[in-house]
Amino acid sequence: LRANFSVIQKETGFVNGLIAVLHDITELEKIDAERREFVANVSHELRTPLTSMRSYLEALTDGAWRDEEIAPNFLEVTKTETERMIRMVNDLLQLSKMDSTDYRLNKEWVNFVTFFDRIIDRLEMAKDSNVTFKRSLPPHAIFVEIDEDKLTQVLYNIISNAIKYSPEGGQVTFSIQEEEEKIIVSISDEGMGIPKENIGKIFDRFYRVDKARTRKLGGTGLGLAIAKEMVNAHGGTIWATSVEGKGTVISFSLPYERFEEDEWS
Ligand code: ADP
Repeated sequence: LRANFSVIQKETGFVNGLIAVLHDITELEKIDAERREFVANVSHELRTPLTSMRSYLEALTDGAWRDEEIAPNFLEVTKTETERMIRMVNDLLQLSKMDSTDYRLNKEWVNFVTFFDRIIDRLEMAKDSNVTFKRSLPPHAIFVEIDEDKLTQVLYNIISNAIKYSPEGGQVTFSIQEEEEKIIVSISDEGMGIPKENIGKIFDRFYRVDKARTRKLGGTGLGLAIAKEMVNAHGGTIWATSVEGKGTVISFSLPYERFEEDEWS
């Protein structure tokens, strides 16, 4: 009986070990495949503007620089592309910082309502389109523990998309909903919307519904991926709902504890 027992033990030990090893390999292979795909994406994303710039610069050196109409136009294109590449590299650095293990949030207790309001003010001032803003924020304070810099970037990325994809005179609405253990922050627009089959992918790195169009709008395809990383780091989630031709709502949650009045005193 004892001998049998040890054999069984051996067998289970072996099988368990095998399963664990196989599991590790698939996990590592998956990470490796993702890394390779990411590097291929980065190379492609940088090569496209670089080859286009090379053509413009070649045309300029071949004589277009003499043409007073064409030359400034070609130089403008190369400048815009350079600026977009700088944005992309900055976004990539940001993502790589978040991927590293020593990534820390610098959290403080903040009244989210005034924080949100201030950011909306800043973007309302900066926008150069005739999109209108509507705030539907609670009249009382909501305290959450957040990294202000990170959440400022999350809100910038979402709101600048809402403005970018809005039609002439469209309205962007801001709201906060309080729930038992979280708050939900939503930014909705009346833009072109996102097709159902693509909505799950918009938080992926480099994913864009219409590559040519968003490239023209100066997009890098990294804004929502960064927003997702940052919201997740706070213990929240981010999602989108959209109706094509009607508009898009981007929402994210943040952990929140509702305090009774007297607990603050
Ligand atoms: P980008 O720099 O291209 O805007 P993002 O990561 O911010 O990259 O967004 C990814 C894609 O999701 C965009 O290219 C666009 O296709 C889609 N998208 C994001 N926000 C909106 C919105 N408010 N309305 C319509 N499409 C949107």
